[in-house]
Amino acid sequence: MTDPLKFDTLAVRAGTARTEFGEHSEALFLTSSFVFESAAQAAERFQAQGEGFVYSRFSNPTVAMFQDRLAALEGAEACLATASGMSAILALCMGTLKAGDHIVSSQSIFGATIQLFSNLLARFGVTVTYVPSSEPGAWQQAVQPDTRLFFLETPSNPITEIADIGALKDIAQRCGALLVVDNCFCTPALQKPIELGADVVIHSATKYIDGQGRVLGGAVLGAKSLIHEQITPVLRTAGPSLSPFNAWVLLKGLETLGIRMERQSANALALAEWLEGVPGVAKVHYPGLRTHPQYALAQRQQRSGGAIVSFEMEASSDEDRRARAWRVVDQCKLISITANLGDTKSTITHPATTTHGRVSPEGRLAAGIGEGLLRVAVGLEDVADLRQDLSRGLRA
Ligand SMILES: *Cc1c(COP(=O)(O)O)cnc(C)c1O
Repeated sequence: MTDPLKFDTLAVRAGTARTEFGEHSEALFLTSSFVFESAAQAAERFQAQGEGFVYSRFSNPTVAMFQDRLAALEGAEACLATASGMSAILALCMGTLKAGDHIVSSQSIFGATIQLFSNLLARFGVTVTYVPSSEPGAWQQAVQPDTRLFFLETPSNPITEIADIGALKDIAQRCGALLVVDNCFCTPALQKPIELGADVVIHSATKYIDGQGRVLGGAVLGAKSLIHEQITPVLRTAGPSLSPFNAWVLLKGLETLGIRMERQSANALALAEWLEGVPGVAKVHYPGLRTHPQYALAQRQQRSGGAIVSFEMEASSDEDRRARAWRVVDQCKLISITANLGDTKSTITHPATTTHGRVSPEGRLAAGIGEGLLRVAVGLEDVADLRQDLSRGLRA
């Protein structure tokens, strides 16, 4: 018996389907539809009896290769690719919820996900309760008779709070809800939510899976029955399908995912350790630091700390804290001032006035996002250059 293939091998090889031409690299099928040999075959394909492709809103060979590869990496039975991370979350909700249903969600999740739950889905009769991701007791208390989904990100953005996936799985299971993990920050290279007990994994492939800031994409992963019977019909009819071109870029991104995550994580750890010793920095949030309140849990759940580091500037008033944080941002010549993340290029952002600027001051306080907080998404540059870039503003 041969051993199952390892992660880095699957990242390069899984899902590859060669055509009769024997191309080595994955083929890009830029076609909206597919032709049939006969009326009978067309009829068969439309009834979804035969194998084979019909129309790229439903499926496409390049997209299928991406789905199969990502499913292998996450250890999921099935994967459905979507046009973006947000459309993955929308497809999941439309496929699993109806009016009257309820979501329990971590309060520290991506801003657009909060808008989707609180504004869009609310119009269709779905309600949501937000709880702190690191307090399983709060999840238990928030459960209602119609709770269908538990939704979380771990580590959270931007202060890298860790949710205990195994503990939440037990609570979700008892109340018959699906446990959904948005695995955008760790990717399967660092964390395998399904092995830890999650039912569904969501991806914004736009981030680390592309890894080089080029295309949008997303995915929903889980059991075959869930993906094929509940989520796929949403994609087929509503149409937030991944373009074959983007799928091809993302397939190539997966090939280097392991090596990028390992290096970007190592860079982030080096930067976090250095920041802890810089005068004027009050606190550093990074799951790979021993000072992180959930260091032990992060060590169990993740292969390494990931590539997001946040830190707080010390000052005596909110005004001064903001001024000091902005100075660090403004003195960056190398690190890009942008809210995006998951790129080989490092980025810096001031969450309180950008990504979380529309959250109420109380909401920001509850989420631990003060005026002095800065978030760096660490890329592949040399850490010495990143330190030098941050030093200018930190010294000032
Ligand atoms: C960016 C992001 C999303 C949304 O993904 P898009 O591809 O931009 O639609 C969802 N979740 C997290 C954690 C993200 O960072």
